[in-house]
Amino acid sequence: MGGAAANPQPPDDSPGFDARPRRVRVLLPLPLGEAYDYLAPPETALAPGALVEVPLGSRRVAGAVWDAEPEDSRVPAHKLKAVLRVCDAPPLPRPVRQFVDWVARYYLAEPGAVLKMALPVPAALDPPAPRLAYRRIQTPEHLPVRLTAARKRVLDVLADGLARPVTELAKEAAVSSAVVRGLADAGALEQVPIHPGAPGALPEALPEGPPLSESQGAAADALVDRVRADAFSVTLLDGVTGSGKTEVYFQAVKEALAQSRQVLVLLPEIALSAQWLERFERRFGVEPAQWHSELTQAQRRDTWRAVARGEARVVVGARSALFLPYPALGLVVVDEEHEPAFKQEDGVPYHARDMAVVRARLGGIACVLTSATPSLESIENVRAGRYDSVRLPERHAGAALPEVAPIDMRKDRPTPIEGHGTSYIAPSLRDAVAETLAAGEQAMLFLNRRGYAPLVLCRSCGHRLQCPHCTAWLVEHRLIHRLQCHHCGFVTHPPDTCPECEAADSLAACGPGVERLTEEVRALFPDARTALMASDTVTGPDSAARFVESVRRGEVDLLIGTQIVAKGHHFPGLTLVGVVDADLGLAGGDLRAGERTYQLLHQVAGRAGRAEKPGRVLLQTYGPEHPVIEALVSGERDSFLAVEAENRKLAEMPPFTRLVALIVSSPEEDQADAVTRGLARTAPEREGVEVLGPAPAPMAVLRGRHRRRLLLKTRRDQAPQPLLRAWLARVAVPNKVRLYVDVDPYGFL
Ligand code: ADP
Ligand code: ZN
Repeated sequence: MGGAAANPQPPDDSPGFDARPRRVRVLLPLPLGEAYDYLAPPETALAPGALVEVPLGSRRVAGAVWDAEPEDSRVPAHKLKAVLRVCDAPPLPRPVRQFVDWVARYYLAEPGAVLKMALPVPAALDPPAPRLAYRRIQTPEHLPVRLTAARKRVLDVLADGLARPVTELAKEAAVSSAVVRGLADAGALEQVPIHPGAPGALPEALPEGPPLSESQGAAADALVDRVRADAFSVTLLDGVTGSGKTEVYFQAVKEALAQSRQVLVLLPEIALSAQWLERFERRFGVEPAQWHSELTQAQRRDTWRAVARGEARVVVGARSALFLPYPALGLVVVDEEHEPAFKQEDGVPYHARDMAVVRARLGGIACVLTSATPSLESIENVRAGRYDSVRLPERHAGAALPEVAPIDMRKDRPTPIEGHGTSYIAPSLRDAVAETLAAGEQAMLFLNRRGYAPLVLCRSCGHRLQCPHCTAWLVEHRLIHRLQCHHCGFVTHPPDTCPECEAADSLAACGPGVERLTEEVRALFPDARTALMASDTVTGPDSAARFVESVRRGEVDLLIGTQIVAKGHHFPGLTLVGVVDADLGLAGGDLRAGERTYQLLHQVAGRAGRAEKPGRVLLQTYGPEHPVIEALVSGERDSFLAVEAENRKLAEMPPFTRLVALIVSSPEEDQADAVTRGLARTAPEREGVEVLGPAPAPMAVLRGRHRRRLLLKTRRDQAPQPLLRAWLARVAVPNKVRLYVDVDPYGFL
């Protein structure tokens, strides 16, 4: 026991005052199970939410005073350690604490692991040391030191009377920081603390937005009413791409701000949000606070504190922004609510759209979900009356929706290109691209496959190059001359000979990736300016923004891209979209394959003809009669969704039932099997509950671990969590075995 229990407590029987030391529950941001009891310092009132530092073994850890009652009986007071100090940060608001508990219960996670998401930056729990800056105090004539050229440059820079941090000042004056310090030591400069403005703060008056069309105005009014109601609600803002959904929900944002509330906007891929940020700034005249994985620690600390103090009024972020400590949240918007990126697949697996709704309920506020292709979950919630819906049926300013047509690859076969080899582009798509380029317009070819080829095989023995750690083929990336596993990140040099039969020059790339498609396009259209956009060629928000800007300026004629080109970009000159393999997402055992393919291709199609010129979309497919392809061609989304819903209902699948995936994994195959058998033996048996499996997962080996899957299915009105808790408590899991519980799974690998 360290020197931690330092606060001397009066003995329990001392007369004259209530001698019982006050206990508090403290939840630590660690996967430790429940909150622990500590002794509160006698002189401080520690209300729930207070952020405190406590001893844990030999460590000091910051955590939050939790709402649960102290467990007086379990540990006697004299064995408890005392709270070391109270941190200098606003307490975690009640809805945030409730949210942490709720998420932990729903996803069967440790509350501490969820609290870690609310307290991700320990440094934020205390104010940062003020940054010091230098300001000029004397005119050069009275300078107490000799004036060198370098010193003069420093004083010139400071002539405006403003203070600058030493590194910035040295850089501006092109001197070393020693020169600046020398001047300060000589008394020519004074040091002042600077307080950076809070990220996401607002101007005094909120600007008006553009005039809205009649249907936009009606939709905006409905959302504004929801914000004003100051009560929990969920509204699905369902509008075709380009109908002005962003413009419409900005009105609701404005209303929440006018009520002195905070606003959270969740975007699926924050790295691609440059255009969104630009629009927000144009609309509101300020930058919102941002929250995503690419921030520095210092930015995270500043933003966390600004949110906690209520100074950050608008936060735009990736899913983890849900866990920030908003004291006055008034509106949550989930933009592109159908996006799979809202599901977190590691750590605590959670769905940010679903949890946004929960957060809104706990806060008693409005939640807005937007999409042109809403998830079946949200559609069903609207149908059942749990959510409201507001529709925007037309594109803004009369822009027409693109015309979509299939290309039947069984009839319209690509022919090999002379001197180049296999082609993946059908003659009719080739002609359409040529026409578009001849008209001075832009075309885009979409293929949702990174790299050069998804598979490399030996022409002599048929051996396929596989990841040594996963049940997966290695993908050839020719631009960087590597083979890569897209599941574990394994990278290797392409071998010169077949690793199996040792034949030389026998390895052949099989199938197309975007790099190979780019090669083909350059052979077909040598005069066109082509550009490739994929997550490994365009990395991070800045390069994405530059790329998008160059397309908008017309510096690119022919764009080739994976799904990252599909996301919300507005390319006014783009009139043709060719989908190279429209069937790609339809194979496999994912229950949402059809829905997702529809959503993705619809979104890709929505890139065409967003300005005055009408757009055209061509889908290369081997199954033009597939309901997804037919729905994309006919534009009859609602009847497609109705059929999709009917099929799910018949198959007793979500959203009409609940699923929980259990994935058992271990470096030892027989251990994984043993635990899986144990789970199968003890599976809950009762009406309305079904356990599917066990089966080897489609990715039977991932990162060197053998994987087995079970799927628990319950009726919608039956919460699976209590069943699961009881079930998992019956099975011993050895150390090396990991049991991953995925409530409402979205991935089925
Ligand atoms: P969505 O989010 O539905 O795809 P956006 O909000 O991005 O649609 O709007 C599409 C385009 O139309 C954007 O460039 C936007 O600025 C413009 N726009 C939409 N509504 C208006 C309006 N009322 N006045 C001016 N421009 C608008
Ligand atoms: Zn791998």
